[in-house]
Amino acid sequence: MTNKTDGIVIEIDERIAVKNSEQQFEAYCSGCKKMTEMATPKTAGVLAEISEREVFRLIESKEIHFIENARILVCVESLRALTADSNTGSAQTFSSKGAEE
Ligand SMILES: [Zn+2]
Repeated sequence: MTNKTDGIVIEIDERIAVKNSEQQFEAYCSGCKKMTEMATPKTAGVLAEISEREVFRLIESKEIHFIENARILVCVESLRALTADSNTGSAQTFSSKGAEE
């Protein structure tokens, strides 16, 4: 009975741990051409509600901005723009509904 919920508990604990740790930075993003919020791929994944693996996929396909020094930092702004696009895509289709009333 307790074994069944173990996986879920671990997952939630991990998310909270990431959110509470100081894993976000501000750095100059050459893609945005300004100072932006940067985060490690793990933290960026939590912020965008995607997996860390998905973040690396986006980095490799150059769909999001990132800087690579001693560690990889992801531009949170570009990641947000990307995830916002896919989330609002269908909502915009129906936004004119009722506008003629
Ligand atoms: Zn950027």
